Parts: sequence; structure tokens; C-alpha cells
Amino acid sequence: MLTGLPANIYEFMEWPWEKIEPYLHELGERPLTAENSVEWLKDWAQIGDMISETYSRLSVATTLDTTDTAAEEKYNIFIETIMPPAMIASQRLKEKLLASGLKPEGYEIPLRDMQADAEIFRDENVPLITEEQKLQQEYDKVAGAQTVQWRGEEKTLSQLLPFRLDQDRSVREDAWRAAMERTLQDRAALNELWTRFLKLRLQMAKNAGMDFRAMKWKERHRFDYTPEDCYSFHKAIEEAVVPAAARIYDKRRQMLGVDSLRPWDSEHQIHVDPSGKPALKPFENVSQLISTSSGIFHKVDDQLGDYYDIMMEERLLDLDNRKGKAPGGYCTGFDTSERPFIFQNAVGIHDDVQTLLHEGGHAFHAFEMYQTLPAYRRTMPPLEFCEVASMSMELLAAPYLAESEGGFYSATDTARARIEHLEGVITFWPYMAVVDAFQQWVYTNPEAALNPDNCDQEWSRQWDRFMVGIDYSGLDDIKATGWHRKLHIFQIPFYYVEYGIAQLGAVQVYGNALKDQANAIANYRKAMALGGTAGLPDLFAAAGAKFALDTPTLSSAVSLVEGVIHELEPAMG
Ligand SMILES: [Zn+2]
Repeated sequence: MLTGLPANIYEFMEWPWEKIEPYLHELGERPLTAENSVEWLKDWAQIGDMISETYSRLSVATTLDTTDTAAEEKYNIFIETIMPPAMIASQRLKEKLLASGLKPEGYEIPLRDMQADAEIFRDENVPLITEEQKLQQEYDKVAGAQTVQWRGEEKTLSQLLPFRLDQDRSVREDAWRAAMERTLQDRAALNELWTRFLKLRLQMAKNAGMDFRAMKWKERHRFDYTPEDCYSFHKAIEEAVVPAAARIYDKRRQMLGVDSLRPWDSEHQIHVDPSGKPALKPFENVSQLISTSSGIFHKVDDQLGDYYDIMMEERLLDLDNRKGKAPGGYCTGFDTSERPFIFQNAVGIHDDVQTLLHEGGHAFHAFEMYQTLPAYRRTMPPLEFCEVASMSMELLAAPYLAESEGGFYSATDTARARIEHLEGVITFWPYMAVVDAFQQWVYTNPEAALNPDNCDQEWSRQWDRFMVGIDYSGLDDIKATGWHRKLHIFQIPFYYVEYGIAQLGAVQVYGNALKDQANAIANYRKAMALGGTAGLPDLFAAAGAKFALDTPTLSSAVSLVEGVIHELEPAMG
């Protein structure tokens, strides 16, 4: 147990590097033996968690209000003066542990991860990582400033979403075009930002002595699949999913009675209800969203519901859309306080409910780890499995969206919402394949990718390959710049295939719950409680799923989802 650290995280957040450094220095100097290794790991976790919580809290503050210059200043001071030396110090401690040859119990997977970190770590990349984080903020700023004049009012692009779901085709076309044309205005700025991102990344890879993809593979701890497996996954998606997605798009086209399905009728995630009913309106205000969701989580599992109630009581949910808030939704962890935090931009549409269920799954994953594992064994679980936690929750919670179960909707609307979600599961895979195939191309053709025109072309090529059934004719510029609107490509390179892998796990967890909910949830929770102590195949197995990226596994997932859709269709009336 380290002494002299403040009991209060807010006090620690004011500490300059000079006060933090001695703790890490002492850990570096302390002899490390079989007898004291657990205590050494505990001490490291204690200071490491405080640094990580400081980062999370400062970073959250910048996303709550992108115009808050004081928050930005604090964040910048942290990423400039504390993060770089802390990363170097932490790397030295990893090296010390690796060099000791000690294998503390249950530490096989973290040691494997540390080994990979050590292979790619370069001191000279630390300032480049800081620079990359600043570029990420620039991307957020560009996106956060995107507003349009809509019927005399200034609206964020998120606030335009309800109009993109309007039953009047011309209204939704106007709203869609307004949003797209606004992002096109930033085309040159985003292209310029892109080349700065890419040059920086290529330099980092050069410093590490390998290509960027190989570096990311190690950094992302991808030990259980290769780039080749990703290409096979794309092919399996092309074979097993693209035809099913095309069937969904064609069904929508027929229901709408239109000659061709245009992007303002349906994109892969956002689409007007083809039955002609107005968009689902799950709640009038965010407090309703918050309280109704509590009931739903309790129906899935009482303990998970209790976790969520803690977040309500402790104000760990910031869900409403406000101007100046960064886009999107996320869940992060405050490691010393042992609490997750959820951020989103709710505007009153069904997607907001879906986002909260998703982020709720992440939050429960964090709670399970905080409850089960001692701090020093709480290493990061693989992201592929983090998304199994969140995507499973979307599916597991779906039956309880009904008012009769304490949820938001009538029986008819529940069927609508569930069909929409399940169709989204299918239509997501091809879009994910576009994003992943595009990034595979970027980082295996980096010279070409420095020219944004080539990126436009490659994105269009992959789009045409996977996104069959939506008519983009006459919209070439908007189609070609789709990668500008995918923040992962700018901010978290290569992070996307994880969602596709995870969806495959989530559908299997859901399939188990259809047979025996209590047993499926028990396995799901057990797998989450393993945190980062097991590899992907073991985590999937613990959750009752098979880890495989092939056509047979995808085909059976697709038929399971299509089967549930067909069962729900009569309930829509
Ligand atoms: Zn997620």
C-alpha cells in the first residue's frame, strides 16, 4: 500500500508530475521478488488507477462541453506534462516485470499483452501520441461545430435526426441533404487533417521498425486472429450477410412503394419506418429515458439493474444532447472510484434507447470487474469482448421494451423496435466490412492513402462491394466521403472489426437466452467478470459462444436473427 497519496481523487487531479513521479520511481527501484510481486503489482495498480481516472475525468469534461476552454486547458496540461512521462514510467515497470521472469498467478494474459507493448514501445513515439491526441480533438471540434439552419433554427446534426426519419419523403431528403452538405463543407479541412494523422502514424510505425498494421495488431493485442482472418471475415460477410441485407433493403423499398431505395429512405443504421408509421417516440425527456431503463435492466437481471441504479444515484449518466457536446456516445471507467460513466446525445428517438442499452452493457462489464477482480488483476479485457458485453445487452433487453414489461412501447411498437434492431444487426456487418476493408487498404497502401482522392475512390469501391440495395446514384461526392463521417478512421485506427466479431458473439449469447435466460445471463456475467485475465476464445467460451469468423458461423447467426424477425412480424399488425 502506497502512503501519502490523497484519499480524494479530485485532490490527486491537481497534482503536478513532480508529486506523482516519486511513486513510480520507487516502484522502479524496489527489488521485485516472488515474495513481494503481488504487493508490487497492487501498489502499481493503486497509482496507475489514479492516473487513469484523472485522464478519464479530464477527458470526459472536454466532451461534455467542447467550448469549455478551462476544461480543455486542464486536459492539455495533463496530456502534455503527465501522460508522456507516466507512459514511459509505466513501460519501464512492464519491462521490469518481464525481465524478472516472474509469473504471478493469473497473470499469463496480461504478461502476453505487456510483451507486445514492450515490442512496439519507443520513447520517441510518446510525443507523437500526444500530437495524435490533439488531432483527435481537432476532429471532434470540426464535428462539434457542424450545425445547420433548419426552418429558421440552428440545429446540430444529431438534432436533425428526427427529421431524417420523417414520413414525408421530401422532408427527410432535405434533412439528409442538409446534414451531408454540411459535412461536405468540411471536406478540405478533414482531408488536411487526415494527411496529418496518416503521416504521424507512418512515422510512429517507422520508429517502431514495422509497418503500421503490424504495430496496431500488437498494440491492440490481437493474438487470436490475423489480418488474413479479417479478409476471410469480409468474404464470409459478402457470402452470408450481403444477400440477407439486400433482402431487408428490398423489403423496405417495396413497403415504401418506391422505385429505388435512396439513402434518405434508408441507410445501414438510420431509416424511416417503411410501414408508414411515425418514428418511435420512446420518451419526452431524458429523465424518463433514465428511469424507464432501470426497470428494463432489472428485468434482464436484478444485480445488473442494481448496478445501473448506482449510476443513477451517483450522477454517472450524462445523456442529453446539447450544443457544444462532442458527438456520439461512450462509456468510460473511473478506476479508483470503481465506477463507470456513460455519455450520449439523446434527442428522443429509439436510437437513444438502443445506445443506452449498449453503453449499459459496457458499464456492467466494468462493474463485474470492479466487484470480482482485485485492482491489480483488472487489466483491460479485449475490445472484441467488451463489445460482446454491450451488444448482448441490446439483444437481451429487447423483450422488455414493452410497456407490459415496464418498458417504453406498446406491443406493436415493441415488435417494430425489435425488428428494426435485428435488421440493424444484419445490415451492420456489411458496413463494418467497408470500414475494415478500407482501413486494411489504407495501411497496406500508405503512400496512395496520403492522397485523399485515392481514399475517396477506395471507400466507394468497398461501398459498392458490400452496400448492395441502397441507391446512391447522383450522390458520388457524398458516397465517396463516407470515411470522413466515420470517426474511428480518424481517431481510433483499425478499431472497427471488433464490433463485427463481437456482434457474432452477441447473437450467440442471445440465442442461448432464447433457450434459458437465467443460464445465459449467468454465463454472460461470469465471462465479463474475467476481465482481461483470459484470451478471446476462452472469453467467448465462458459466455457460451464460439470464436470463429467463418461463413458457417455467420450463416447460422443470420438465420437465427432472420427467424426472430419472422416471428415478430405478425405482431406488427
Ligand atoms: Zn461499445
